[in-house]
Amino acid sequence: MTSPAGTPLNWTNRLVQLGPDFYTRLHPTPMGAPVWASRNTKLLQSMGWPLDLLDDPALWAGNALLPGSVPLATVYSGHQFGVWAGQLGDGRALWLGEASSDQGPQEIQLKGAGRTPYSRMGDGRAVLRSSIREYLCSEAMHGLGIPTTRALCLVASPQPVMREEMETAAVVTRVAPSFLRFGHLEHFAARNQMDALRTLADHVIKHHLPEAHERAQAWHGNVYAGLLDEVQQRTATLLAQWQAVGFCHGVMNTDNMSLLGLTIDYGPFQFMDGFDPGHICNHSDTQGRYAYGRQPNIAYWNLYCLGQALLPLIGDQDLTVQVLEGYKTVFPRALGDAMRSKLGLTGDLAPEDLREADWTLVEDLLQLLATERTDYTIFWRRLSQSMAAGWWDDPGATDAWQSVDDLFLDRARWQAWRQRYRERVGAADPLALGQAMLHTNPKFVLRNHLAEVAIRQAREGDFSEINRLLDLLHSPFDEHPGMQAYAGFPPDWAGQLEISCSS
Ligand code: AMP
Ligand code: MG
Repeated sequence: MTSPAGTPLNWTNRLVQLGPDFYTRLHPTPMGAPVWASRNTKLLQSMGWPLDLLDDPALWAGNALLPGSVPLATVYSGHQFGVWAGQLGDGRALWLGEASSDQGPQEIQLKGAGRTPYSRMGDGRAVLRSSIREYLCSEAMHGLGIPTTRALCLVASPQPVMREEMETAAVVTRVAPSFLRFGHLEHFAARNQMDALRTLADHVIKHHLPEAHERAQAWHGNVYAGLLDEVQQRTATLLAQWQAVGFCHGVMNTDNMSLLGLTIDYGPFQFMDGFDPGHICNHSDTQGRYAYGRQPNIAYWNLYCLGQALLPLIGDQDLTVQVLEGYKTVFPRALGDAMRSKLGLTGDLAPEDLREADWTLVEDLLQLLATERTDYTIFWRRLSQSMAAGWWDDPGATDAWQSVDDLFLDRARWQAWRQRYRERVGAADPLALGQAMLHTNPKFVLRNHLAEVAIRQAREGDFSEINRLLDLLHSPFDEHPGMQAYAGFPPDWAGQLEISCSS
């Protein structure tokens, strides 16, 4: 393995100091003939990393090592589809190290860089199809302002990889302050390795969630209860953001839940087209465990698993349950706030005593959207545009409102709702609300069919669509004149796309 020239990163690699109980050190497996599919220079620049870092695709295919990196795969366990799955671990993600950046220390991971001791039956590879989806969706989420792991670059290769059919390999480089998951703590708790459990929890608190100390004050100074509380609150906030934007994760197993409250492990995810609380985006999820409407409860279930893992450190079952109970307050409040801001009902407009009335307004709207399977993203965007033009009897706003009316078959029900909304807004200026709503309700989300077009072209060697989408999704609230087609209804063929766990 060669060490390339170029400006080195400044590595801290604090995870390595935990010791060999937590990981296995090994090198990536080289991948044949790597070529660039995409480089995220925006992320590179925001990190303050040198531009020449992304000169050589061999580095990001795992064919050469960045000077100072200490490649390793971490061990974790987890509950998959509601069942304890035992040891899992980084089966194809290789941790390169933790590098200083303008955004604080960042861990860098190659996903798809070959087998590890945790690969089990897997080949350690990721296919181009799923790598494009992960690469784009990570950045789309960031563009939406939702906490997520980031994606630095994407390398493709002609190397064959067998899934349902023959595909080709790719490596996506992920960046995050930490890739630690609920499953990392579950692993050591399940094995009764109490020293390791404490070491890892202390590492998380010290380096990633120092907020645990402040939270502990509400829990008799118990810092591990504080840790659980912090994770609980971050998870609740994340779930509120997912629900508000219509995002389905698809595989909310505890090994896919970030301790930092980041969206992590993009697989069969989907931004919903027509609104349907029962929507299942993962073709492999036959029971609908991870249906859109169930996500908040599943997150709570997952937090219980985390609570169980932390219980030996917290040392008090009642206290642990009490901390977890907080989710039942934090989540609805965060969701209520997110939905109200989608309606422009923020700040002075929503004094405390209006929360409940506003929630009824939101629920009635969601029921209407569900009955009509109204396109979720298009509805919110058109509503925002209409508000930015005025009320429907304002001559300048008629067309805009007509475009919302056109989304509903049951016009009378819709118009009754919009009248209630108008009464709620009262004397406030709809134009100002509309402007705020245009920054809350995105014009562009990574719908399945948009990713699919990029995938089909990339398979033919043309990566330009990936870069076009990356640009668009970095600023999904902007109008992007000329890109209207990317904000339209999904084509008929989108309904036939089957997205599964296969990746
Ligand atoms: P996921 O369903 O992608 O969250 O993966 C669950 C577990 O399977 C994790 O431990 C992954 O590292 C592992 N895994 C998934 N796909 C592969 C693969 N192709 N090779 C090795 N391990 C894999
Ligand atoms: Mg995973």
